[in-house]
Amino acid sequence: MHLAIAALYAKPRTVSFVLADDWAREATEVALEGVLEHLVGDWTLQLDGVCVEVKGSLAFAGTGHCDRCYESVRIEESLQVHLAYLPEGHSGKDPELSSDQLDVGWYRNKSIILDDVLSEAIALALPSRRVCNDAGACDERMGAMLQAAHQTNSTAHDL
Ligand SMILES: [Zn+2]
Repeated sequence: MHLAIAALYAKPRTVSFVLADDWAREATEVALEGVLEHLVGDWTLQLDGVCVEVKGSLAFAGTGHCDRCYESVRIEESLQVHLAYLPEGHSGKDPELSSDQLDVGWYRNKSIILDDVLSEAIALALPSRRVCNDAGACDERMGAMLQAAHQTNSTAHDL
């Protein structure tokens, strides 16, 4: 979903979304590589010079998979979003943006794509690798898979 920067000239705007909002659900599911059961977001977008600041809350729950053994993994997160976007090509050296806490992205064509903001917020909040809570069971599944792969390889070799 695109939001024209011009829509923020007069005053900040609130963007709220839930699971029923297709753009938000799809962006979140792609970022999570999972299936959602719950999604709530409540953001305020504010323009400061040419910088768009996105602040608010995001909560989601659903099912993803383990990056090692591919077993289902429960995903449940509630987080605060604080991102800033500058026009593409901007130097990014705004004194007001000196805070290291703030992640700065880029927008182009005078509009901000909320789907991308959502994906970024999730990518920044989640660990890059998702694994089973039960490390022992995960190791066992991995072991079984490796063994199966090894046996397939050996059989192929024998032929
Ligand atoms: Zn696993």
